[in-house]
Amino acid sequence: MAQNLPDLGSPGLVNYDRATEIKLGQAFSRTLHTQYDLVEDPQVLSYIRRIGHHLASHAQDPRPFRFYIINDPAINAFAGPDGIIGIHTGLILSAQTEDELASVIAHEIAHVTQQHLSRRFEQQDTLNITSFASLLAAILIGSQNPSAGMATLMGTTGLNLQQQLKFSRIHEHEADHLGIQLLHNAGYDPHAMAHFFDKLSKQYQLYEFRPPEILMTHPVTESRLAQAVARARTLEAKKSQYDPLNLALIQQRIKNINQNQPIGINSHNTVVNCYARLSFNQYNLEHQCLTQALKQHPNNRLLKTLQLTLKLDHDPKNAIKELEALNAIYPQDEAILGILANAYYQQGMFEKAQQTLIKKTPEMLYQYALYQQLSNLFAQQNRLAEAYYYEALANLSIGQHERSRHFLKQSQQANNPSEQPQLNKLIEALAKELNSSINSKH
Ligand SMILES: [Zn+2]
Repeated sequence: MAQNLPDLGSPGLVNYDRATEIKLGQAFSRTLHTQYDLVEDPQVLSYIRRIGHHLASHAQDPRPFRFYIINDPAINAFAGPDGIIGIHTGLILSAQTEDELASVIAHEIAHVTQQHLSRRFEQQDTLNITSFASLLAAILIGSQNPSAGMATLMGTTGLNLQQQLKFSRIHEHEADHLGIQLLHNAGYDPHAMAHFFDKLSKQYQLYEFRPPEILMTHPVTESRLAQAVARARTLEAKKSQYDPLNLALIQQRIKNINQNQPIGINSHNTVVNCYARLSFNQYNLEHQCLTQALKQHPNNRLLKTLQLTLKLDHDPKNAIKELEALNAIYPQDEAILGILANAYYQQGMFEKAQQTLIKKTPEMLYQYALYQQLSNLFAQQNRLAEAYYYEALANLSIGQHERSRHFLKQSQQANNPSEQPQLNKLIEALAKELNSSINSKH
């Protein structure tokens, strides 16, 4: 689909090559994980990633799309290098339907497939790739409080880059055009994009002094709206297939994460209230409402996962069986995998807990949290060599080579090769991999 479009990019700018894009992606990922407040809640992540990967599966692009959530009330989203897409919690909270939320994600995916980022700028010669990635992140994410170092770095290079990254009407049009097609192909309402942007701009005109970030980079003009509506009309309108309950539950989770305590009596929806209370309440006195909710929504993954998490307390054997079945149905759902592994561990099945994670992690796209869980499991068993080894892998998975090397050294020191020859082999293999990455670093 993307290939059939004429090249609308600005002439004169050369795309950087794939190897540079991959390196920049790694550095960008490292920056995201170390300098920004990322949402770590597995259920929220799993939900957003489900939408993102479903949309991306219609884009026919070889990049490994990865979706992260920035815990930031700004209504914003961005497309970074090498398929990294960020969505601010403010955007998730401001959407009324999953279609609206998906419309922005689809738009960002289109920026990636059309290589807009790499067409808009060339890497600044004066910066190494790490500083360049930090600067790029600061501009794309719109950090409210840039660090002192970043402020200096921003200087002229930053202003230059910001200028280059500024909204390009042609790119935005292209991203709208392709994004609406993606939305439609993925079974969402193609009108959702025009609708959402129109609503945001009207809300802002009524209530706010400063437009939401996404409107600063994506001004809603009459012609933009008209084009989006016209584009959507050429596509057969579908009724969305998506359960509206999911977005409401996820929004409630996000609110609760930021309150650090259970809230949830603020929703008109009794199912959402029930979910909020049970997810964050230590006492779990009201399972009744969940049984009721599941009767209304028997296939809802979030409700089912919550039910099984609670069931682990009083009927762990059966809860584990059902979690295993759920994990088989949704093999890419990291939230379910993590809960299952933890359940094994709580039931004294340490070997099974670690094996479940070890077997699964290499095939998962997002490995960081899983490797960290593994590291924690081994640490709790006082098996430090393994704990350090998995900490090294966790860091490697987000491009943190320095830290990875540091933990690998610790692992080496803690390990006794004659007792654990298998681990020794793994350590040596990882050391080799890290060494070869030094040589190709710059
Ligand atoms: Zn855009």
